[in-house]
Parts: sequence; structure tokens; C-alpha cells
Amino acid sequence: MIIFKKAKPLTDRLTAWKGAGKRTGFVPTMGALHDGHLSLIRESMAENDLTVCSIFINPTQFNNADDFARYPVTLEQDIEQLTNAGCSVLLLPPETEVYPAGYVKPHYDLGPIETVLEGYYRPGHFQGVCQVVDRLLQMVAPDRLYLGQKDYQQCMVVRKLLQLTGRTHLQLRIVSTKREAAGLAMSSRNLRLDSRQREKAAVIYSALNYIKTHQKELTVAQLKEKAAALLKASGFTIDYVEIADAGDLTPCSALNGQPAIALVAATIGSIRLIDNLLLN
Ligand code: AMP
Repeated sequence: MIIFKKAKPLTDRLTAWKGAGKRTGFVPTMGALHDGHLSLIRESMAENDLTVCSIFINPTQFNNADDFARYPVTLEQDIEQLTNAGCSVLLLPPETEVYPAGYVKPHYDLGPIETVLEGYYRPGHFQGVCQVVDRLLQMVAPDRLYLGQKDYQQCMVVRKLLQLTGRTHLQLRIVSTKREAAGLAMSSRNLRLDSRQREKAAVIYSALNYIKTHQKELTVAQLKEKAAALLKASGFTIDYVEIADAGDLTPCSALNGQPAIALVAATIGSIRLIDNLLLN
């Protein structure tokens, strides 16, 4: 695996490879890699000649300074895991490469998707996501981009970004969520859970499954109420339990077989976790 810290040598090398007909898959991450990230790497490797992974903890997408300061960093293990997985290139840029002096970060007109759910609870978050993804795509210019369904709203926001920036040729691949045996969605932030919290956190998946299993018998309000009660009983404070249209994330008042998704954001201790489950 070749590690690049600077954009220019990376772009030059990728341009040469592309000239030789090689197809590139890109997996942007913030590091503290786990098997969820590696499933994206594997999917990219299966579909492309080259896989580029980036590790960059993007300050502009954190609306909470403490969350940014405490974001886990496990760089040595990350490099080892990527090497073992057979990843071709790691982009490890300093902040000055992503946002060079004088670079004016654009504002992206994302529409309503920006301010619902995660956008409501994390103001500015999706502008930050778009800023970093836009810059990284300028550097890597891949054929395919791999994102995890775990961050479902992020996938939709990035899809919008690709439209807004005219990257219609770029294929977006959404990879299903990798979970621990008990159902907890793998997440870098899980590293900050103690063993008791980690055990309790499996309730998020149980609550989502409750919604999925009982969607034909109960009203949407009842489904959300029951899921929230399960989370509260395990010590979570809840930002949202929502059942929404899977296309645009507008809340569903009833389920009539339309593509829908259940989404949860909840905090245990000081750790905020998100997860979702498609309902049909
Ligand atoms: P992050 O490092 O948290 O920014 O995540 C980098 C990418 O990995 C994003 O596209 C995430 O959606 C994806 N990802 C994170 N956790 C998982 C998971 N448990 N399963 C699949 N993809 C994931």
C-alpha cells in the first residue's frame, strides 16, 4: 500500500494509473477502522483495479468540540488493517492539504435533507461532510465511491452533492451495515463505550427490529413509542426515533408498503450512536 500525504503526487499517480485503464474505487473514512470500514474496502476491491482509502478527521463536520477532541485515533492499526486487506493507496492528508490557505469552502444547497434528523441535531454537520467529500473527490477523482448505509442520511446528502457538483459519471455504492454479533452497528465511537454500555447499546438494533417486525400490526406512533421505551429502559437519552420515507426522509404518518426506513439517534453516557433499518 502506498501512503500519500499530499494531494498533488497522489493525483499525478492516479492520473497515470487511470491513463493505463485502471478503475478506481474510493472509501473515505475518519480512521479508527473496524470491519464495517473494511467491508467497504473489500467491496471496492472486488469492483475496481485500485482502491483508495482516506483517513482524515474532518474538523468542519463536528458541531461538538468535545466529540472532535475525543474522536478515536488508531493510525498504526488502521495502516496494518488496510495493508492486510490489500488496499492499494492510503490518503492521509494534513488539514492544510484539504483546506489550503485561501481555499473558500463552498456552501452547498442541499435542500430539506440538510436540516432534518442528523441535520437538526448537528447543525452544520452536512455542510462539513460535503466540504470534505468534495475536496477528497477533487483529489482522487474515482470511478466509484463507497459509503456505508449506517450513515444513511449522509449517503443521501452525498448523492445530492454529486448532483450539485456535476459528478454524474461517479457511481455511488451504498454498502450494508456491519454489526457486532449482538446487533450493535460497528462504529469508531464504540471504542469509547465501556463494556456495560456496549452490552446495552445492542438495544438500538432490537428497537429497530421491533419496528420492522411489528410494522403491520401497530401504528407508526405506537412503533416509535415502543422503540423509544426500549431505548430509555436501557439508559439511553433519545434525539430521535423516526420512521421516514426511504427516498427523502420525510416522516411517515402511516406505513402503506412504501419504501420506508426506521432511524435512531441516542446517547448513552456521553456517546451518541446512530443506526437505521430499512423496513421493506
Ligand atoms: P467514518 O470513518 O465513521 O466516517 O465512516 C467511513 C465510512 O464507513 C462511511 O461511509 C460510513 O458510513 C462507513 N461505515 C461506518 N460504520 C459502518 C458499518 N458498521 N458498516 C458499514 N459501513 C460503515
